[in-house]
Amino acid sequence: MNIALLPVDSTYPNLALMKLSAWHKKHGDTVQWYNSLDRYDKVYMTKVFTFTPDYGYYINADEVEKGGTGYDLHKTLPQSIDRIQPDYSIYPQIDDKTAYGFLTRGCPNRCKWCVVPKKEGKIAPYMDVDEIAVSGRTNLILMDNNILASDYGLAQVEKIVRRKYHVDFNQGLDARLVTDNIAKLLAKVKWIKRIRFGCDTPQQIAECERATALIDKYGYRGEYFFYCILLDDFNESFNRVNHWRSKGRRFLPHAQPYRDVNNPHQIIPQWQKDLAGWADKKWIFRTCEFKDFEPRKGFKCKQYFEQ
Ligand code: SF4
Repeated sequence: MNIALLPVDSTYPNLALMKLSAWHKKHGDTVQWYNSLDRYDKVYMTKVFTFTPDYGYYINADEVEKGGTGYDLHKTLPQSIDRIQPDYSIYPQIDDKTAYGFLTRGCPNRCKWCVVPKKEGKIAPYMDVDEIAVSGRTNLILMDNNILASDYGLAQVEKIVRRKYHVDFNQGLDARLVTDNIAKLLAKVKWIKRIRFGCDTPQQIAECERATALIDKYGYRGEYFFYCILLDDFNESFNRVNHWRSKGRRFLPHAQPYRDVNNPHQIIPQWQKDLAGWADKKWIFRTCEFKDFEPRKGFKCKQYFEQ
């Protein structure tokens, strides 16, 4: 069969597409990126976000299968495809030391802005880290949503330390769960660049402060990165993002406007776009206060404080 892959709204490496590619190649099929000038037996389309536009053109194929949160919150890969080793070769930007995966799926919490509990349910074991770190791929991008929330997840982090794997839990950790023992464990992990936390409420500022101080106590000297959802209160959102500015270069916030998965026509307020445009460009965040940031000619963000 002649198979094509069509990621509609993201160029970030897509684990499902890598697994589909591996499965089809194993069964003797050819797999390539979709080219509208070619004809295919089957095209897999993926869409990550609900708010991005769909592919608007005719698909030249006998069969089209769609997946990803942007199309269907609950669709999953069949078990036989899900547990296959991904075909990393479809993404030349992934080097031969790097692997992607999940150790757990789900989360025990139900934050109102988050799609994970609806999509994946309560936290459950999923894979062993040694099933991901294969063929010398010891730099691991792990996309768990709340690895510290299960004993299985913690046992996996202990294994990561024993194996000396380098990791990035790129969806962030829950600072509320960092005890003294967990901080000691996290300080022993070989982190790829940084430790990430969620900092989505005013209360979580104190939790992130507490967790980072504990981890530092055990010798960690790398960066911290804080995912900050932007909800409907400008002052609260600004104060939470801006809090990290006074902490120095090791502490980086990342501002994310809230996206309602049930409302693809949602309009993001301009202050959220500007706050994200300021915080997420590190050279601007470091050198300029938000009130002095001028995202458009003639508009300085100090106007938000006057409204
Ligand atoms: S935001 Fe994080 S802690 Fe909250 S439900 Fe989502 S994954 Fe869980």
